[in-house]
Amino acid sequence: MAAGGGAGAGGGRHQAAAPGSALALLGAVPGAPSCPHGPALLFVKVSHGREEGRRFYACSACRDRKDCNFFQWEDEKVSETRLAAREEYNRNHQPPFTHRQNVERYKNFVLLPLSKRRFCQECQQLLLPAEWGKHSSHQILCDISTAQSRSPSQLLYPLENKKTNAQYLFANRSCQFLLDLIISLGFRRVLCVGTPRLHEMIQLKASQEDFRVRSLLLDIDFRYSQFYTEDEFCHYNMFNHYFFGGEAAHETCRKFLHQDKDERVIMVTDPPFGGLVEALASSFKKLMAMWKETEKEGYENQEMPVFWIFPYFFESRILEFFPSFRMMDYQVDYDNHALYKHGKTGRRQSPVRIFTNLSPSMIVLPVEEGYRFCAICQRYVSSGNQHCEICNSCTSKDGRQWKHCSLCKKCVKPSWFHCNNCNCCALQNHTCEKTDAGCFVCGKEGHKRSTCPSLSRTRTSCQADKKQRQKTLKRVKIGIHKRLAMKHAIFSRRKIKNKKKKT
Ligand code: SAH
Ligand code: ZN
Ligand code: ZN
Ligand code: ZN
Ligand code: ZN
Repeated sequence: MAAGGGAGAGGGRHQAAAPGSALALLGAVPGAPSCPHGPALLFVKVSHGREEGRRFYACSACRDRKDCNFFQWEDEKVSETRLAAREEYNRNHQPPFTHRQNVERYKNFVLLPLSKRRFCQECQQLLLPAEWGKHSSHQILCDISTAQSRSPSQLLYPLENKKTNAQYLFANRSCQFLLDLIISLGFRRVLCVGTPRLHEMIQLKASQEDFRVRSLLLDIDFRYSQFYTEDEFCHYNMFNHYFFGGEAAHETCRKFLHQDKDERVIMVTDPPFGGLVEALASSFKKLMAMWKETEKEGYENQEMPVFWIFPYFFESRILEFFPSFRMMDYQVDYDNHALYKHGKTGRRQSPVRIFTNLSPSMIVLPVEEGYRFCAICQRYVSSGNQHCEICNSCTSKDGRQWKHCSLCKKCVKPSWFHCNNCNCCALQNHTCEKTDAGCFVCGKEGHKRSTCPSLSRTRTSCQADKKQRQKTLKRVKIGIHKRLAMKHAIFSRRKIKNKKKKT
């Protein structure tokens, strides 16, 4: 769900912000009105460092108004009739079956002989024989094996809609690596937040062999409730920390986080890359607080261990909220993402990394894939990541060898050159920033708008975020190398998919 948290923030409808102004997320506030995705988030327009205009609520989960068009001014008087209509609307926009009903249906489904096990691809639903008639004109998959019903991430089509779900599934190589790492670090419980494929791998192993790791999936994709019990899946929105299943689901999560002796817990999350980092961070802090509230002998002053999987260019944003996190060099690959694949040739490398609060020296990366241990940095790094003597660290962020610029006093991308006009390194064919014009937001010289100090840290400019997001989406869409051929491949693939859906 790209831009998820961006909701109002990045969405088309609020794009009217004048130059020099931006949208800021004020966050989840008590008493906020709700849309079908739970409590809305509060936003405000910021101009020249100050709040400007009325604050408003918008959907936390959907950036595209086509997915959810919830909007309300903070000080707006909402009539009783409108409130009632809204409640009715929210009720009508809940899934057709409850999780409980889906669990019952699954029990019945697996009792059916193979010849009667059908899945409607159009409705993305397991069918019971009595329902076949209703779906007779839909595309149906027959003879759903036990293996298939235990691999829902293969059966369900990925919701690739960038502005809402951005479901990019781990390539098997990366998923296996994560699980092996988790096991070797001694964890026995994995809280999977938006990582259905990792959850699936754990559940599959647990059903097949003597395997002691357990997992709980928190995800907004309710289709998964057809395959997992209430102890294995919670319908959850990671942009506002909302459990759709209410207090019972909350309790399930709390119980899961209560680690017994030798049952250490780790949270692994892979959010939509367009999502607002501050909204995600706020939810993850609440999950970490839930972990902390449960008694843990010998872990008093610790944080819940976390793997946050996100592109490397969000490093400074993540560290702003979680100073204890470090970025690992491991490149996470995806199945349904032609461009986020492992690059042996150094081209087309995935920009997605693991951010963690565990000690980097403990995160062993596969030597057979070219990672090596840097004894000075005490961590595994990419093969191309050379230790810079001047910076005294392995400075590459993208896997290529970076070069030190003595004027910038830091390492920069290999494709950059020092520009005396801009007084920093940039691509050779960049357009120089006018040095006489100051910051876009406050007008002062000496910094750019993305680092404008007049935008407070908690109310960071969404515009800066939006820019980053657009960059991300562009990368997601057409790849780092912007190869036209790839662009066409992805585009036509989606077109075919849409056609399939219609027939
Ligand atoms: N690589 C992971 C999937 C990551 S894609 C894997 O293979 O397991 C992002 C995931 O986050 C999807 O499963 C998507 O359904 C989920 N997601 C998107 N928006 C969400 C939200 N607001 N709250 C919770 N989960 C969300
Ligand atoms: Zn159907
Ligand atoms: Zn080093
Ligand atoms: Zn350097
Ligand atoms: Zn330079």
